Amino acid sequence: MSRMVASRVVRKTVSHPERSHASAKQRMARILVTLQQSIPDARVALDSSNPLELLVATILSAQCTDERVNQVTPKLFARYRAAKDFANADQAELELLIKSTGFYKSKARHLIGCGKTLVTKFHGRIPQAMDELTTLPGVGRKTANVILGSYFGEPAVVVDTHVKRVANRLDLTRSQDPTKIEEDLQSLIPQSQWTIGAQRLLLHGRHVCQARTPQCDQCSLYDVCEWEGKRTLA
Ligand code: SF4
Repeated sequence: MSRMVASRVVRKTVSHPERSHASAKQRMARILVTLQQSIPDARVALDSSNPLELLVATILSAQCTDERVNQVTPKLFARYRAAKDFANADQAELELLIKSTGFYKSKARHLIGCGKTLVTKFHGRIPQAMDELTTLPGVGRKTANVILGSYFGEPAVVVDTHVKRVANRLDLTRSQDPTKIEEDLQSLIPQSQWTIGAQRLLLHGRHVCQARTPQCDQCSLYDVCEWEGKRTLA
């Protein structure tokens, strides 16, 4: 009888522990230190040399790999150098240049729309505020946070599909809503580490904690991970 009770307690503790906010922050700190060691280089992999290029590359990276985007952008950036060039672009010509990134019709529409909005509302410059960035066609909080964090150096938590998955598996959030996940991570990660911390979670999800087959046997966070779907080591 007592063994059964003990067994139930252990199972509950392992699958869904309830933590105080302070202990959740301590656990987050441990995760960040571990990820810093396993992913020392956490730069954004999209090639760009100015904020407009980063914006364009980030829009193109939706449903596409960074490698593919980096193959497409050199020719694109040579042809379209400023916001006004995108504003005046021929849709068909632009589509052809970005076709291999997928969803090229809507992406081309967004790039032209961004160019027009940048020219008419922001003097051709990339704005440095979330509420202004998200007025650009095709730009949501995720893309805006990439620009704010990676170009402007502001604390910014990017939540993409990898961060969403990893944050849930590591019990850093219990939400599927990107905005709520962003808030949950902001409350756990010290503000000075928002950008780099979220980027490391992203890279961990992309390369280790993958959607279908997480590489648990190679995971630096194995000991801290309590996800019930975690693969048992042989
Ligand atoms: Fe993901 Fe497995 Fe690592 Fe847990 S142990 S974080 S499920 S890769």
